[in-house]
Amino acid sequence: MKIAVDPIGCRAHGLCADLLPELVRLDEWGYPVVAPGSVPPELAAEARRAAAACPALALRLRAR
Ligand code: SF4
Repeated sequence: MKIAVDPIGCRAHGLCADLLPELVRLDEWGYPVVAPGSVPPELAAEARRAAAACPALALRLRAR
């Protein structure tokens, strides 16, 4: 599973970085930067929670 951010939809709420700090940090403008690679299995539940919580539905999970 991988995380992708829709740069058009993202509104820089920053919630994803709060919920998934292991894989998402915010750049200087508050937009998320996702760690490269796959989501480690132990973070899969947190990744799903972060994607579901994104107010703009801009944080997407996709199967590799
Ligand atoms: S929670 Fe959604 S809208 Fe907010 S920064 Fe993350 S991807 Fe963007």
